Amino acid sequence: MPINHLILLLYLLTFPATAAEVALDIGHSRNNPGVVSAGGIPEWELNRQLALAVAARLQRIGISYRLIGADGDMEVLTDRTALAKKDTLFISLHHDSVQPEWLAHVDRYSGYSLFVSRQNRKLHGSLACAKQIGDRLLATSFHPSRYHATAVKGENRPFADQSRGIHYYDGLAVLRTAHQPAVLIEAGVAVNPQDEISVTGTEGRGRVSEAIAQAIAGCLKTLRK
Ligand SMILES: [Zn+2]
Repeated sequence: MPINHLILLLYLLTFPATAAEVALDIGHSRNNPGVVSAGGIPEWELNRQLALAVAARLQRIGISYRLIGADGDMEVLTDRTALAKKDTLFISLHHDSVQPEWLAHVDRYSGYSLFVSRQNRKLHGSLACAKQIGDRLLATSFHPSRYHATAVKGENRPFADQSRGIHYYDGLAVLRTAHQPAVLIEAGVAVNPQDEISVTGTEGRGRVSEAIAQAIAGCLKTLRK
């Protein structure tokens, strides 16, 4: 490829022409797929399916979106936030695991978690959106896992809002480098077989994705005020 074409391609990747209202970031990649669920499914695939379910609902209610990482080849985290540079809101979708020593009692760990970073340049908006996501998930009878606040190495993520299951996780690259309000969602604990079904089964994924899509709609309204 001639060098000027390569530069143009890089420019278009970095500065996409059209902004979307929300960037849906599919956590992990095909080669580094994150956790493996109790049912043996790589997390990246669960994240991709959740993103597609949320996207379908956003389309129905007229909200524009950008899928990031749908081909499974996004290895550099800052490429994700660069692609989303002009978008209004950044939502990163994941499924959770637990500390290795907790796996023997994995049935004790279930529920969703929400993360925001105090290093994100739009912390106020990030928190406002995380609250709306928490409210929608709670209203849909999901519960927060809360174990990420446990005082052990690898956790220790302080609560930003305990009742809604929102934690500060300042160092998370996509939250820290996002140009807009950003929230990372752990939809459920994929290594717990029951929790996996509750958020990845047809009915459960439908309920989670509906709650997330409705919260995104509410959040976009708040951010426009
Ligand atoms: Zn993940």
